[in-house]
Amino acid sequence: MMRIYFLAFLAVMALLPILPTPPFWITLANYIGLYSIVALGLVLLTGVGGLTSFGQAAFVGIGAYATAYLTSQLGISPWVGLLAGIVITAGAAFFIGAITMRLSGHFLPLGTIAWGLSLYYVFGNLEFLGKYDGLTGIPPVTILSFTLDLGREMYVLIWLTVILSLLAIKNLLNSRPGRAIRALRGGGVMAEAMGVNTTWMKIVIFVFAALLACLSGWLYAHLQRAVNPTPFGLNAGIEYLFMAVVGGAGYVWGAILGAALLTLLKDQLQQILPALLGANGNFEIIVFGIMLVVLLQRAREGLWPFVRKWFPSKPEAVAPASAAALPKRAKHAPGATVLQIDRARKEFGGLVAVNDMQFDVKAGEIMGLIGPNGAGKSTMFNLVTGVLPLTGGQIRFMVNGELTRIDGLPSRRIVRHGIARTFQHVRLMPTMTVLENVAIGAHLRGTHGDVAGIFTSIVRANKSEEQALLFEAKTQLERVGLGHMLYEEAGSLALGQQRILEIARALCCDPTLLLLDEPAAGLRYKEKQALADLLRKLKGEGMTILLVEHDMDFVMNLTDRLVVMEFGTKIASGLPADVQQDPAVLEAYLGGVE
Ligand code: ADP
Ligand code: MG
Repeated sequence: MMRIYFLAFLAVMALLPILPTPPFWITLANYIGLYSIVALGLVLLTGVGGLTSFGQAAFVGIGAYATAYLTSQLGISPWVGLLAGIVITAGAAFFIGAITMRLSGHFLPLGTIAWGLSLYYVFGNLEFLGKYDGLTGIPPVTILSFTLDLGREMYVLIWLTVILSLLAIKNLLNSRPGRAIRALRGGGVMAEAMGVNTTWMKIVIFVFAALLACLSGWLYAHLQRAVNPTPFGLNAGIEYLFMAVVGGAGYVWGAILGAALLTLLKDQLQQILPALLGANGNFEIIVFGIMLVVLLQRAREGLWPFVRKWFPSKPEAVAPASAAALPKRAKHAPGATVLQIDRARKEFGGLVAVNDMQFDVKAGEIMGLIGPNGAGKSTMFNLVTGVLPLTGGQIRFMVNGELTRIDGLPSRRIVRHGIARTFQHVRLMPTMTVLENVAIGAHLRGTHGDVAGIFTSIVRANKSEEQALLFEAKTQLERVGLGHMLYEEAGSLALGQQRILEIARALCCDPTLLLLDEPAAGLRYKEKQALADLLRKLKGEGMTILLVEHDMDFVMNLTDRLVVMEFGTKIASGLPADVQQDPAVLEAYLGGVE
C-alpha cells in the first residue's frame, strides 16, 4: 500500500486512545490487535507458504501460560515471562515443524489439529497451571517505571506490536528469503531447482508464525491478567485461520481486515442471534460457516483484493539502474566432457522411461536431445537435475575440474554445481512480477545464510544484496528480450514468453550447463530466431547447453551434436546432418505413417 494511506492508518490508530473513545471500543480494538498478530503469522504460513495450520491457538497458549505461571506463581518479571514463552515456543515449533513440514497434503492440517487439541488438554490437566480454572493474579507489564494496567495503555503496546509485525513480514516477503518462501506454493520442485531448501524454509516460517502467536499470548495474558485453557483450544485455532482467510491470507493487510471484521461481527452476532433464536449458544459459528462457503466460491483470495483496488499500488521490488556485479563462476575448458550419462535408467512401475541411456556432453557445445513425445527426454532432464532419483546407472558432472557423481544429490545441491534448467511445463509464480520470478533464480547468489538472511531482510539491512540480485534479474531479462516487461505479473505473459522468462531465471543461477526443455514451443518465427541468436551468444561465452526441442529447423541449425531417444532408448547420435539421414531416426519419426 502507498505510504500516505499507511500514515493515515497510523494516525487514526494513534488518535484512538488519546480521544475520549468509549472503553468498549478500546477493548474491541485490543482484541482485534491480538488476533491480527496471530493472523499475520498465518499470512506468512498459510497464505504465502501454502501450509494450513489449525494449531496457532496452542502457541498463543504457550505464550500466555509461560508468562502467567512465571509472573503469578513465581513473581518473576513479565519480560522474563516473554523470553520464556519465546524460548519454549521456538523449541516446540521447531520440533513439531521438523516432524510435520516434511509431510505433504492433508497430513499437516491434521497434525496441527492433533497438536492444537492435545495442548488444550495439557493446559487443562496440569495442576501447576490451575487445571481448567487457569491462573489469576497476573501482574501488568511495566516499562521502566510505567505500568500498563489500563486497556488504553495496553492498546499502545498491542498495536505497536501489530504494526511492527506487519512491517517485519512485509520486509521479509520483499526480499531474497521472502521470494523463496513465496515460491513454496509452486509445490517445491521449482524452488528446489533454484537452490532453495524448501523443507528448511517451511520450518522457518512455521517457527516464525508460532512466535507471533506466542507474542499475542503474552500480550493477552497481561491484558486479561488471568488465563484459562478455553481461548487456546481448537475452536480458537479455527477462528484464527478463518480470520486470515476472510481477510485474504495472501496479504498482510488481509490479516488485520479479517481480524477486525470477524471480531466486530462476532460481537454483534453474539448479541443479536441468541435474542433472535430465543436460546443461548455460540450461534455465530453457523454464520461464519455460511460465510466461509460463500467466500470459497466467490472470493478465494479473501476480501482484501477488493479493498486494494481503491488504492493505487506500485511494484514492491524495483530493479536499480546499476548495482555491484555478482561474482561469476568460471566456465569449463572447451571440449572437455562436463556431463556424463552412464547407463542412466528410470522405471515408473513397469514402464522403462529411460533405458540405460549413455551419452556425454562437452563443454561449450549445444547438444540436442530429440525424440517423439513420451520418449523420455524430460525424464532424462529430471534425472540430471535430481528431481527424480535414478533406478540405475550413474550421472557425473565436472566439479572443480573432476567428473563427480551427482546422481543421488537433491536438486538444490546440483544447481550449486552450475546446472540450471527450464521446465517443459512452465513453473513460475503467476502473481509475482516477471522481475521477482527471475530473481528467484539468483537465490544462491545472495550473501547471507538462510536464517541471517531472514533477520537482515526484516530490519532491511539487505539493501545492497537486494539491489545486486534485482539488477542481475533485470540484466538477464533484458538479455532474453523481456526487459520491457519487468513489472508485469508473470501469469499475464503469453506461454512462449513464460518459457523465455524461465531461461532468464536459469541464467540467474550462473550456470555452466543449461538444460532447456522445449524452449521454442509457442514462439513465433521471429521470436525463435531471437532465441537461437541468444543461445549462440551464450555458447560464444562458453556456456554448455543441452536442449530438447521439437522444431527440427531450429534444432538442425543450432546444435553441434544430437542424441535421439525413442521409448527411453538411445537410437542414434552424432552430427545433425548425419542423424537426419539415419534410418532408425527416420523410422522413429515417420514409422507407422507409410
Ligand atoms: P518426453 O519428454 O520425451 O515427451 P517424458 O520424459 O515426459 O517424455 O515421459 C516418458 C515416459 O515416462 C512417458 O511414457 C510418461 O508417461 C512417463 N512418465 C514421465 N514422468 C512420469 C511420472 N512421474 N510417473 C509415471 N510416468 C511418468
Ligand atoms: Mg518432455
